[in-house]
Amino acid sequence: RHPRLLAVLGDPVEHSLSPPMHNAAFRATGLPFTYIAVRVGPGELRRAVDALRVLGARGANVTVPHKEAAAQLAEWLSAEAREAGAVNTLVFEEGRVLGYSTDGAGFCRALDEVAHFDPAGRRVVLLGAGGAARAVALALAARGAAAVRVVNRTQERARALVERILASGRGTEARACPWPQDTPGWEDVLRGGDLVVQATSLGLARSGPDPWRDLPFQVTAGTALATDLIYGPGGSPFLRAAARAGLRTLAGDWMLLYQGAEAFRLWTGVEAPVALMRSVLDRLLKG
Ligand code: NDP
Repeated sequence: RHPRLLAVLGDPVEHSLSPPMHNAAFRATGLPFTYIAVRVGPGELRRAVDALRVLGARGANVTVPHKEAAAQLAEWLSAEAREAGAVNTLVFEEGRVLGYSTDGAGFCRALDEVAHFDPAGRRVVLLGAGGAARAVALALAARGAAAVRVVNRTQERARALVERILASGRGTEARACPWPQDTPGWEDVLRGGDLVVQATSLGLARSGPDPWRDLPFQVTAGTALATDLIYGPGGSPFLRAAARAGLRTLAGDWMLLYQGAEAFRLWTGVEAPVALMRSVLDRLLKG
C-alpha cells in the first residue's frame, strides 16, 4: 500500500518535532501514512492545502502563522475550533476539509495525566493571548476553572480573549491585565494563582537576557503549578525560575505529545502509541 501523506504547514517549521514523532508512531502501528514538514509562507495556506488534497493527503497540522486562516478555510469546525477561532488539525474527508483544535485537549490531558492537576475551581494566570493561549484558556474554562487572568502585552488581544472566555458561558471569571513593567506589577498578577501558564512566544530566542529570571513566583498559591508552552532541548528558563521558587512544573513537550496523539486519532481512527511518541521526543530533546 502506498502511504497517505500528512504534513505540518507553518513558518518556521524546519525544526518541528511532529514529523519524527508521528512517523515513528505510524511505523510502530503499521499504519500506511507518512508525515512531512512543509514551509508555507503567509497567505499561502490555501494553495498548500489544495496541493495536499490533489496528492490524496489525509490531512495536516497547521501551526504559526496559519491557525486562524485554517479556521476560515475549513468547511466544518469542531466545537473547540469554533470557540477558539483557530485550527491546528485538518482532516480531508470525502472532498471536505474538517477543522479541529487539539491544543486545548492536549494541554488538559498533560495537566491531568502528568501533573495530576484538576483545573476545576482553580485560579489561572495566563501569560499571552495568541492562538495557543486562546485554546488553553477555553479548555480550562470548559473544565471548570474558577478564574483566568489574561496578561498580555497588547491589551486589545487580552480583552478579546476575556470576551471569548465569558462568552463560552462556563461561569469562569476572566480579567485582562496589562503586561507588568516591574516586580510589584508581577506580584499583583501572580498573587494567589494556582496555575501559571506561559503561552507567549517570549523566550523562544535562546540567547539574550532571561526575561523570567526575577519573576516573583513565590506570591502564587502554596501548591501552584507552572507550565510553559515553549519547549526545546535546553529546557525552559521560565520553568527553571518557577522551580527555584518551589513551584511544581510541567514542560510544554507534554502538550505537544498529547495534541499530536489527538490528531493521530482523528486521522487514523486508532489510539496513538503515546509511550513510543514520548520516547521519540525524549531522544530529540536530549540533544
Ligand atoms: P501567537 O503568535 O498567536 O501569540 C504570541 C503571543 O506571544 C502573544 O500573546 C504575544 O503578545 C506574545 N509575545 C510575543 N512577543 C512578546 C514579547 N516580546 N513580550 C511579551 N509578549 C510577547 O503564537 P501562539 O499562541 O500560536 O504560540 C505561542 C507559543 O506557544 C509559541 O512559542 C509556540 O511555539 C507555543 N506553542 C506550543 C505548543 C505545544 O504543543 N507545546 C502548541 C502551540 C503553541 P501580543 O499579543 O502583544 O503580540
